[in-house]
Amino acid sequence: MQIRGSCFCGAIAYLVNGALHNARSCHCSMCRKAFSAQASAYAEIEPDTFEWVCGEEKLTSYESKNGGGLMFCSICGSTLCGTVEGQVHGVTLGCVDGDPGVSIGMHIYVGSKAPWEVMPDGVVAYEEGPSNDESKKA
Ligand SMILES: [Zn+2]
Ligand SMILES: [Zn+2]
Repeated sequence: MQIRGSCFCGAIAYLVNGALHNARSCHCSMCRKAFSAQASAYAEIEPDTFEWVCGEEKLTSYESKNGGGLMFCSICGSTLCGTVEGQVHGVTLGCVDGDPGVSIGMHIYVGSKAPWEVMPDGVVAYEEGPSNDESKKA
């Protein structure tokens, strides 16, 4: 399985040689800022399956105090991937081109969702993370 992704302006593209895992959406206040949206939409990659196809030199990044980070296009601002200690850990589903082969399996931190967000019925939702471990990830 190959998954491709790219930013809004098209300067940066990547390839994942494998499946995505653990697709989720986090509604916490940090993810809202990081993703400029009501929540994150993110899935993990398997180690060593990720490569940049073009535009890697146009990436910029931000790392938070816990070692988790995000990489985004310095031209258009699309957030392309998440990092843990500098290594690509997963991709933002919004920048995947086509079907990522996964669906969002859970919504976490809905207890702190934005007052303007209306949650759809029938989704798997947690007030916080399903475990503390989970809540540390994007
Ligand atoms: Zn771009
Ligand atoms: Zn979050």
